[in-house]
Amino acid sequence: MVIETALVSQMDAPTAAGRFGDFGGRYVPESLIPACAALEAAFREAWSDPEFRGHLSRLRSEYAGRPTALTPAENLSAQLGVTLLLKREDLAHTGSHKINNVLGQALLAQRMGKTRLIAETGAGQHGVATATAAALFGMRATVYMGERDIARQRLNVFRMELLGAEVIPVTSGSRTLKDATNEAMRAWVAAVDEAHFCLGSVSGPHPYPWMVRELQRVIGEEARAQAPALPDVVVACVGGGSNAAGTFAGFVDTPARLIGVEADGGAAMTYGTPGIVHGNRSLVLQDADGQVREAESIAAGLDYPGVGPEHAHLGTSGRAEYRTVTDDEVLVAVRRLARSEGIICALESAHAVAWVLRAAGTPDLPTGSTVLLTLSGRGDKDMATLAGEVR
Ligand SMILES: *Cc1c(COP(=O)(O)O)cnc(C)c1O
Repeated sequence: MVIETALVSQMDAPTAAGRFGDFGGRYVPESLIPACAALEAAFREAWSDPEFRGHLSRLRSEYAGRPTALTPAENLSAQLGVTLLLKREDLAHTGSHKINNVLGQALLAQRMGKTRLIAETGAGQHGVATATAAALFGMRATVYMGERDIARQRLNVFRMELLGAEVIPVTSGSRTLKDATNEAMRAWVAAVDEAHFCLGSVSGPHPYPWMVRELQRVIGEEARAQAPALPDVVVACVGGGSNAAGTFAGFVDTPARLIGVEADGGAAMTYGTPGIVHGNRSLVLQDADGQVREAESIAAGLDYPGVGPEHAHLGTSGRAEYRTVTDDEVLVAVRRLARSEGIICALESAHAVAWVLRAAGTPDLPTGSTVLLTLSGRGDKDMATLAGEVR
């Protein structure tokens, strides 16, 4: 297999304009350009400051429970004929990888003198992580969430409110993550002096796709150090793509195949075409007129018609591959992992598990392969969906 050696394919920094190949950039209203530029400058400065890095690293270990475990899934491995290693982001504080990104952004916001965090959320995990960091740092948090997601992730709404955040229901469009992101960006325009927009994935305008990947890189770097040998395949679910980007960053310079798994109903890497959504150029689900199509997935965190621009670049350059699984396969995967390993994962994470279940023993994942899979979060939030109460 040929490994791309171009700078950006190795997941280094994007160009000065925030480009990853043909994708990325900063397509925002004029009023947000200075805010994006200030954020970029602040992040560059902080990221090269050992004191900032040291503070973040202490928060990760003393507060967020890092490093998270790498668990050999022994029973499932024996059943499938592959060696399956699980990177356990479900064990991180607040129950998913989102806390890695949020602690970094909250620390940065504080350093920039901001007093307020504005966030969008789908499954509610990013909202909970933001509410958590706001409580810890004594900041105000406002979280935008689609009405449909509020209904299916009610537990996380209670958690955010208990933590002191204000949750604002979004009633436009499909009432899911895309619409919540629109509203959060609008709120940022109105409060740009005092508020930091704490974006939850590797999407949005430059510097977010790069900054969020750098803040999630800890997943891949820890996993690389913990793995007994280099895996043949590295797999993670893809919504906006932050847990996958963070995981891939630790393995992009190895021969490992990198596989992102999307929800069939929100698969921008598979069915998308180039377009602009939420401030960047990437692959987007859209109709012939360029109207963004509604995504449709059982997993609120993957119910998104776009994908981070770096994934568009990794996919079109051939360094990473993308697959889709259906809602039905996901429901089977949650139960199979629970019964065989005693781990109830999030519906989002189960997309990666579902691909392994389907591919093991086929040419896509030959018997004897070693697979490192990022389990992005825990399933507590999904009990109502799993009980068949909501979809
Ligand atoms: C938010 C979320 C995702 C999707 O976001 P990415 O940016 O693609 O990682 C996946 N899994 C869980 C548990 C989430 O909370």
